[in-house]
Amino acid sequence: MWRSTRNWLAGGPPAGSISRVNEPIWADRVWKPQPPLAEAVRAEVCVIGLGGSGLAALDELVNQGISAVGVEAQTVGAGAAGRNGGFVLAGLAKFYHETVRQLGRATAAAIYRQTADEIQRQVDELPRIIRQTGSLRIAADAAELADCQRHLAALRADGFAAEPYAGPEGEGILLPTDGVMQPLQRAHSQATHLIARGTRLFENSPVQKIEPGLVVTAAGTVRCDTIITAVDGRLEKIFPELSPRVRSARLQMLATAAAPEVNYFRPVYWRQGYEYWQQQPNRTVALGGFRDHAGEAEWTMAGEPTKLIQDLLEKFLREHLRVQAPITHRWAASVAYTTDGLPVLEQVRHKVWAVGGYSGTGNIVGALCARAAARLAAGQMSDWAELLAQARAGAKS
Ligand SMILES: Cc1cc2nc3c(=O)[nH]c(=O)nc-3n(C[C@H](O)[C@H](O)[C@H](O)COP(=O)(O)OP(=O)(O)OC[C@H]3O[C@@H](n4cnc5c(N)ncnc54)[C@H](O)[C@@H]3O)c2cc1C
Repeated sequence: MWRSTRNWLAGGPPAGSISRVNEPIWADRVWKPQPPLAEAVRAEVCVIGLGGSGLAALDELVNQGISAVGVEAQTVGAGAAGRNGGFVLAGLAKFYHETVRQLGRATAAAIYRQTADEIQRQVDELPRIIRQTGSLRIAADAAELADCQRHLAALRADGFAAEPYAGPEGEGILLPTDGVMQPLQRAHSQATHLIARGTRLFENSPVQKIEPGLVVTAAGTVRCDTIITAVDGRLEKIFPELSPRVRSARLQMLATAAAPEVNYFRPVYWRQGYEYWQQQPNRTVALGGFRDHAGEAEWTMAGEPTKLIQDLLEKFLREHLRVQAPITHRWAASVAYTTDGLPVLEQVRHKVWAVGGYSGTGNIVGALCARAAARLAAGQMSDWAELLAQARAGAKS
C-alpha cells in the first residue's frame, strides 16, 4: 500500500515525497507465513525471537540433533534483522583499534578473526544473498582521517586485510573481506532452510511469560529444558535485570527508487559509522544515521520514524550522496546497546539464556552469540563464549 508521508509526520513531508510508512525496502515475496503457536508443544530447546540471531541458534541446535522450536512475536525478520543497513562487518561495534585499546591485542584479534570467519561461513552458505564487496570507512573530516589511519595500522599490525582508500566517496579505508546483503532475504532464507529440515517456527506469537522450562504465549505453550531468548532491541524489557547495562535505541533509515545517477559499489560507513549507506544491484539506495542528533529522544523502545531524523537523512541523501531519485521507504527499528560495547551472552535465569545488545552491529556478532548459546545449552564448549568472558574480565571502560 503506497501512502503519502503527509499523515505520519507532523508538519508534512517535503514536496513530492512519497514513501512507505515504517516499511523497510527489503521486501521479499518468497516468504511463506508460518502458523501461530496454538497448542502445547515439547522440545529440548525453545528459541524466542526469529531474527538472524534466533535463526542461527536454531541452525546450530538442529546441526547437533537437538529438538528445537522457534517462537516469534511478529514474523521472521520483522525486527532489526530484516530492517537494517545490510552491512556485513568483521569485528565488534567499536572499530578495531578501539577494541585493541579496550580488550588488549590478543583478545581483540581473536574476536576479529572469529567474526571474519563467520562472514566467510555466511558467504559460503548464502552466496546469492551476501556480496563480499568489501566495505568503506570514509572520514568526515581531517581528525577522522587520522583515526582511519590508526584503524588501518592496527588491522595491518595484526595481519588483517585493510587498505588505504581514496575515491569518489572520499578518503578512508577499505576492508576487503566485509560484505553487504539484503537482510530480510537472509532471514527468510535461513528460516526456509530450517523449515525444510523439519524445524517448527511459530509466527505472530508474542511470548507473554518465560519461566525455567516453560514459554507461554496467548494460545499455546512450549515445555522445554532450555530457553534461548534472541531479542536484540527491547531486551531489557524482557529481562529487567539486564537494565541499565543494556539500553534500547531506535535507528532510522530511508531508501529510494533506482538512482542511476550515483554509483556506490561498496557499502559506506561515514562519520564514525553514524551514517551508513548501500546501493543494491538494482540501484536503489538505502541510507541510515543521525541517531546522535536527537539526544535522549532516540534512546527509546519506540520503533516509528521521526521527522527530525528523517529530515536529516533526506538532506544528507540529496546534498552529500547526490541522489535525486524519489524516496520510497522510511523506517525505524529497535536495537540494544551495552555500556561496555560487548554483547550479552549469558544465562540470566536457570537454563534461560539471553543474547543481544550488539550496539548497532549485530548481523555477524548476533549469529556468533546465538550459536554459542546453542552450544552451551547443549552442554558443549564455545570458543566465542570463552572469548567474550575473557574480554569482559579484562575490559577497560
Ligand atoms: C536501522 C538499523 C540499521 C542497522 N544496520 C546494521 C548493519 O548494517 N549491520 C549490522 O551488523 N547490524 C545493523 N543493525 C543492527 C542489527 O540489525 C541487529 O543487531 C540485528 O539484526 C539483531 O538481530 P537479532 O536477531 O538479534 O534481533 P532482532 O532482529 O531484533 O530479532 C528479535 C526478534 O524477537 C522478536 N521478539 C521480541 N519480543 C518477543 C517476544 N516477547 N516474543 C516473541 N518474539 C519476540 C521480535 O519481533 C524480533 O523479530 C542495524 C539495526 C537497525 C535498526
